[in-house]
Amino acid sequence: MAGMQSDPGYLQRARRIVDEVIVPHACDVDRGEFPRTAMRSLGAAGLLGLLSGEDVGGAGLGLRAAAEVVELVGGACGSTGMVLCMHYCGTAVIERHGPRPVRAAIAAGEHITTLAFSEAGSRSHFWAPVSTARAVGGKIRLDAEKSWSTSAGQADSYVWSSQPVAAQELSTLWLVPASAPGLSIPRPFDGLGLRGNSSAPIRADNVLVDESAMLGLDGGGLDIMMTTVLPHFQVLSAACYVGLVDAAVTGAIAHASRARFAHIDQTLADLPTIRAFVARCVVKRDMARALLKDTLAALEGNRPDAQLRVLEVKAAAAEVATEVTGLVMRICGGAAYRKDVGVERQFRDAHAATVMSPTTDLLYDFIGRRACGMPML
Ligand SMILES: Cc1cc2nc3c(=O)[nH]c(=O)nc-3n(C[C@H](O)[C@H](O)[C@H](O)COP(=O)(O)OP(=O)(O)OC[C@H]3O[C@@H](n4cnc5c(N)ncnc54)[C@H](O)[C@@H]3O)c2cc1C
Repeated sequence: MAGMQSDPGYLQRARRIVDEVIVPHACDVDRGEFPRTAMRSLGAAGLLGLLSGEDVGGAGLGLRAAAEVVELVGGACGSTGMVLCMHYCGTAVIERHGPRPVRAAIAAGEHITTLAFSEAGSRSHFWAPVSTARAVGGKIRLDAEKSWSTSAGQADSYVWSSQPVAAQELSTLWLVPASAPGLSIPRPFDGLGLRGNSSAPIRADNVLVDESAMLGLDGGGLDIMMTTVLPHFQVLSAACYVGLVDAAVTGAIAHASRARFAHIDQTLADLPTIRAFVARCVVKRDMARALLKDTLAALEGNRPDAQLRVLEVKAAAAEVATEVTGLVMRICGGAAYRKDVGVERQFRDAHAATVMSPTTDLLYDFIGRRACGMPML
């Protein structure tokens, strides 16, 4: 996807950070270390402010540029790619509805943000928070059991959902500083994959924020989720997994080309079965990437099928990520089961794609409803 935006410098800077920081730290991050060094480097290089407006010192670029960077980073380290993906999703909301000082801090690379939508009560149905926001003495009191938030305890702020204060709607969004008294992380993240992205639960117990922390209107949360968050999350998480799949396929091809059967003087790639697996991986990767490019084109051209593409792109990338990384494990055999070839991390990281909401099952329901002329929710 390179070379399609006006600033070619951002990709060069991203590649340098991938080579010098993200690849060397990928194993430490997989052992559970938050990618702080990578995020600092991305911030210093102006890449955390890629979506920030030029009026606050940001790069003023769009979703395509962010997708290119996330694809590169996700190819090197899924955890770092997802931390960056969620930072861009939060940034997109803050850019439109947040206060100027936070916008400026993000543009300067000094502020990491993320989404805290999922809750223990409504689980993957992120559009229907059960957590509360109550007006108390000129302040807003937030109480919540958030079940997952990437960069929990590491980000500087959370784009936070709750039930509205007064409106008869599903949700309201808030910008909650991570330092707010009453926020806590009940347990650290210990997952199958994306092990460095600190996707921990967050508890809010009598957290007081100013009324000005509201992002958009009371009751306007669903609209912001659908118009701003959904396209960013769907496209950027798909980009992360396309990058991851590409890296896994590249790793598998390199292994198949060099692993030798000495007794018959052949490589794994000399086996037709292995070549067929490789071909399936390549076709699936290219399908997912083509859909990603078409989704960006649909959004940029305001095409009538843009919303459908947005729903499809993550569902497709998630299916491809789990299928291809499974095939890659098969191509590389026992060597893949150990950490020798480096593909088992991608196999584990890929499985988050299906369960991050909108989950693949929810997306199939939304797409099916749309195809049948029914409302999405
Ligand atoms: C690594 C990781 C990072 C995450 N980061 C964030 C984050 O930054 N911010 C955030 O807000 N959340 C985050 N999440 C949470 C994520 O978005 C989901 O909310 C969470 O994974 C859902 O898990 P659950 O056990 O509650 O799923 P459940 O809701 O219990 O779902 C269980 C199963 O039921 C299926 N299902 C549910 N509803 C339907 C339906 N209507 N139709 C068909 N099938 C259905 C689901 O697809 C799933 O397979 C993260 C999750 C992971 C794994």
